[in-house]
Amino acid sequence: MSAQGTGANGAEVVLLMGPPGAGKGTQANLLAEARGLRKLSTGDMLRSHVRDGTELGVKAKRVMDEGGLVSDDIIIGMVAAELDAMEPVRVLLDGFPRTPGQAEALDDLLAGYDSQVDAAIELVVDDAELVRRLLGRAEAEGRSDDNEATIRRRMAVYREQTAPLVDHYERKGKHVSVDGVGTTAAVAARIAAALGSRSK
Ligand code: AMP
Repeated sequence: MSAQGTGANGAEVVLLMGPPGAGKGTQANLLAEARGLRKLSTGDMLRSHVRDGTELGVKAKRVMDEGGLVSDDIIIGMVAAELDAMEPVRVLLDGFPRTPGQAEALDDLLAGYDSQVDAAIELVVDDAELVRRLLGRAEAEGRSDDNEATIRRRMAVYREQTAPLVDHYERKGKHVSVDGVGTTAAVAARIAAALGSRSK
C-alpha cells in the first residue's frame, strides 16, 4: 500500500482490532495521522453521546458499564452516517467491527463505495498485561467501564464475539497480526512495517 491510498479511487480502509487495553486508541491516532486517514472510533462516538445525554447515550451507557456490546443496528447506523459524508472513503476504524454482523455490514457498505477493507490489524497482547494496563487507565482516566469486573467481561466478549473476525479477514487475505507489547513508538513502527510490506 502506498501512503497516498490503495484504491484506484483513492480509498483506503484500515481496521484496528484487539482486546480492550491493547492500545488501539493510541495507535489509531498515530496511524491515521501517518496515512492521512480519518479516525473513526465507535467507542469515542458512544462516549460523546453519553456525555451529551442523548437517548442513544443513556441506552448505551448501561451496556458499556456492564462491558457488553451496543446493538449492531445502532453501531452500523452510526458508521454508515459517517462514511456517507466521506469522498473518497479514507478511514481508520478503531473498535469497529466487533461482531460478525458488523463485519458483514461493513463489507456491504464499502462495496457501495466501490471500496473494501485493505488491512485488518490485530494488536496482540496477553491477558495479564491487558488487565494491568486497564486498571492503570482506570486510575488515570476514571473511565466508568475500567473496573476489574467489567474489564474481565469485556475481555470475554472480545474473545467470544470479536476474535472470530480474525478468520473473516484471514480468508480475505487482509489480516495483519502485530505484537502490541512495547513502547508506543515500537508498536507504531511494527504496524507501519507490516502495512508497508503488504501490496494490494
Ligand atoms: P472502546 O472504547 O472501543 O473500548 O469501546 C467502549 C465500549 O463501547 C465497549 O465496551 C462497548 O460497550 C461499546 N462499543 C464500542 N464500539 C462498539 C462496537 N463496534 N459494537 C458494539 N459496542 C461497541
